[in-house]
Amino acid sequence: MKTSFILSASESIRDAILNHESELESLDRAIGDGDHYINMKRGAAAITELHAELAALTADAALNKIGLKLLSTIGGASGPLLASFFMSMAKVLKEKNDDTTTTYAAAFATGVEAIQQRGKAGLGEKTMLDVLIPVAQQFSTLASANTEINAICYALMQTAEEGMLATKTLIATKGRAAGLGERAIGHIDPGAKSCQLMINAVCNQVL
Ligand code: ADP
Ligand code: MG
Ligand code: MG
Repeated sequence: MKTSFILSASESIRDAILNHESELESLDRAIGDGDHYINMKRGAAAITELHAELAALTADAALNKIGLKLLSTIGGASGPLLASFFMSMAKVLKEKNDDTTTTYAAAFATGVEAIQQRGKAGLGEKTMLDVLIPVAQQFSTLASANTEINAICYALMQTAEEGMLATKTLIATKGRAAGLGERAIGHIDPGAKSCQLMINAVCNQVL
């Protein structure tokens, strides 16, 4: 993976977050404490400020640095979770040190596992994992089958959207919304929405 790809992908992630201000804000106001947009915006801005520094690094070192930066800037539940995603992904890329789609899929899956361990959550708990787990599984399956990268991107974007929409009918068992019981039903999880936006942004950077 080229560091230049990470930089352009992070710019499109930032744009996607900024373009969905009102949606992200109102989702977290409905079932959280209303700060998810602010948290994500702060993280995206901190990464933008790091661009010159990141440009001088290898891709795995850049991803690790992004993780550390998110840990110290985002705060909230999502900060440490996203930080462990990027740092674990970086570790796999460094170890495997090749440019294959299967390595990217393995790195993504390891990042998602790190989120699961850190947050002690799984599928169906109305969190970002309802997007990330199915995407990681599909990415690995398609990469192992030698599926062409554009086809993988289209499939992952669709799976991310389905996972995000599926959180609407779930009761939350992790995070702030867990205290709401049935009152959380009818609202999409904010972290699931921002993860779907990020996956979309990165896939569109590949296409
Ligand atoms: P906070 O809830 O601390 O205000 P944010 O609003 O930034 O933090 O992020 C909330 C999102 O974090 C939720 O919508 C959910 O997707 C995600 N989240 C919260 N707890 C967990 C967890 N244990 N595992 C995975 N994701 C979680
Ligand atoms: Mg919040
Ligand atoms: Mg908060």
